Amino acid sequence: MLHLRDGASVPVDVVAIVEGLGITLEGSTNLGSSASGCLMRVGSAFGILFNTSVASLGYRRFTIGHELGHHQMTHHRRTLFATGQRHLSQPGFISSRWHELEADHFAAELLMPRDPFVAALDRHAPGLDAVREIAEEFETSLTSTAIRFAKLSSEPVAAVVSQDRVVRFSWVSEALGNVPGVGRIPMRPDDPVPSSATLSLTSNPQKVRRAHRVAVNCRSDTWFPRTSTTFALREEAIGLGSYGRVLTILTADYVPDPDDYDSVPRRSSRSEDPWAEGWGTTPRSARRSWR
Ligand SMILES: [Zn+2]
Repeated sequence: MLHLRDGASVPVDVVAIVEGLGITLEGSTNLGSSASGCLMRVGSAFGILFNTSVASLGYRRFTIGHELGHHQMTHHRRTLFATGQRHLSQPGFISSRWHELEADHFAAELLMPRDPFVAALDRHAPGLDAVREIAEEFETSLTSTAIRFAKLSSEPVAAVVSQDRVVRFSWVSEALGNVPGVGRIPMRPDDPVPSSATLSLTSNPQKVRRAHRVAVNCRSDTWFPRTSTTFALREEAIGLGSYGRVLTILTADYVPDPDDYDSVPRRSSRSEDPWAEGWGTTPRSARRSWR
């Protein structure tokens, strides 16, 4: 099994980890356009293939981490190899299948270990620039970095990935999710993107391909219509190039204090995501003060 030492330096050397486990790692030109990686089993040996047509180093590294996740989580094998000895992957929080999401979260936690990632967050003001700079430092994809950012930030932030005017994936930080009416995941996959700067961008494929970027100030009810008090949000969005997706980062300088809204029932439904570490477990007294 994989045991990472504490204080591992970044960028994490995922190739050395894979090879250290005796897994063969090779680039491939035969995976087609829909798969960025593959885990293969030959007898008791395993191999990982990554699609050499993927230009993004961060996404390639994420793919290798995803396949390693399948290898390390041995309960995946019965599903992955049910009909053959090859599992083709399309990582990046795109698939809704449980084993694909587990492998995605494994890759994110492997490539962006909590301690150095939180230290990096402390060095940046929250926003899209922070996500871009941290992605460069950790050699990770913009999408996976944004999701980790929203998951680990102590600030009120959210990351939303959309495509063709619908939400593909979103994550809200605890500080924002605790605001009554926001909810942990306000937008579920296939919800329409609300009328916003992001909607305008995702409606323009050319701008998405050219990595066009927008930044606007908006009201919180643009994205979170169920909040009883509105507050100011900064909305920054960028086209993710040939992937056809748009990444949106939402940040707030101020959010209402949840303790002012004791009469409003807090969202009780827990995520079905088994990786929702620590969500809702912070005692009220231990929460940081809201700015
Ligand atoms: Zn997979």
